[in-house]
Amino acid sequence: MEKKNLFGYSLPQLEEEMIALKQTPYRARQLYSWIYVKKVYDFSCYSDISKPFREQLEKEYCLDLPSIFKEEDSQDGTVKLLLEMKDGAKVETVLMRYDYGNVICVSSEVGCNMGCAFCASGILKKERNLTSAEMVGEVILMNQLLEKEGENVSHVVVMGTGEPFDNYDNVMSFVRIMNEQKGLAIGARHITVSTCGLVDGIRRYAEEGIQINLAISLHAPNDKIRQEIMPIAKAYPLDKLLEAVRYYLDKSGRRVTFEYIMIKGVNDSLECADELADLLKGIFCYVNLIPLNPVKEKPFERCSNNQTHLFSERLNSRGINCTIRKEFGTDIDAACGQLRVKYVKK
Ligand code: SF4
Repeated sequence: MEKKNLFGYSLPQLEEEMIALKQTPYRARQLYSWIYVKKVYDFSCYSDISKPFREQLEKEYCLDLPSIFKEEDSQDGTVKLLLEMKDGAKVETVLMRYDYGNVICVSSEVGCNMGCAFCASGILKKERNLTSAEMVGEVILMNQLLEKEGENVSHVVVMGTGEPFDNYDNVMSFVRIMNEQKGLAIGARHITVSTCGLVDGIRRYAEEGIQINLAISLHAPNDKIRQEIMPIAKAYPLDKLLEAVRYYLDKSGRRVTFEYIMIKGVNDSLECADELADLLKGIFCYVNLIPLNPVKEKPFERCSNNQTHLFSERLNSRGINCTIRKEFGTDIDAACGQLRVKYVKK
C-alpha cells in the first residue's frame, strides 16, 4: 500500500483523518506543529505522540518532498528550481525577492494544455496534475533555501506551469494549507491564484469565501487578438470572462489583477491601450503589464520599454490603475517554463 503524504493535508482534512484512525482531532494539531512550526519530518522524533501511534504513522504515512534536479541563481537574488517528483516528473518553481517580501511562483501541473502562443511552459503538454502535497513541497524546499538566510516565503502566486483551475481541488487544498494559521500561516491576501480565464473555475473560486487574490491572464483588449495568442479565448470569449469576473467581484469585494504581456506589434499599440481601458471601465481592478521574456521556440518579440511606459501612461490617464512588473532573473532562464523545456525531452 502506498504511503499517504501528510504534506497534502489541510488541517481540517488531517483532523478527519485522525478521527478515522480513532485519534482525537488534537493529534492533527500536534502533527501540524511538528511539520510546519518545528519543521521535523522524522515521525520517531514526535515526542508528544505515543510510540505505537508513531509506528503506525511510519507504516502508513510519509513526508516526501521533491528533489532538486537543477538550481539556477540569478545575480538579483531570483532562484529557479527544477524539481523532480517521485515519478520522475519535473516542474519549475521560482523565488522572486521584492521589497515587500519573498514571492514564490508555484507550478500546478506537469506541463500545460492551454497552448498560449507566447509561453514556454505550454511547449510541453500536460502530463498530469500536481498533487497538493507536491505543490506544498515546492514551498517547503524554497523555505529550506531561504532559512539559511534567516528568511522565508512570505507570498505565494500560483502562476507557474499549468492552469490552476484545471486542477481545482488540489490547488484549493494547497491554498488552504498555505493559509493555515497553525501551519505556514501565509495570509490570504498574500496568496494569488492566476487563471488564463476558465470561467467555471472563476465562479467556483468566487464561492470559496476566502480572501485570496485572483489574477486573470488577459493579454489582449479584444477577442480577435486574444484568440490568436490564447486558444482558451475561443471557448470563453471576453464577455463571458468579464461576466465571471464581475460575479467574483460581487462575491469577494476583492480587487482583480489583469495580467497583460506586452508583445511587440501584437497587443502593444496605444489603440490597444484605449480598447483595454474601454473594456475594463468600471471594473475594480488593476492591470499588470509584463515585459515579454522571448522564448526561442516562439516568434514573438518583446515590446520596447518606451512603448510599455506609453501604454501604461495611457491606461493610467484613462483611469485604469496600471503597473509595470519588475523583471527578475534576466541572467538565467527567465521565462516561465524555459528551464524545464531545457531538461525534459519533447
Ligand atoms: S501561460 Fe499559463 S495557461 Fe498559458 S500555456 Fe503557459 S502555463 Fe499554460
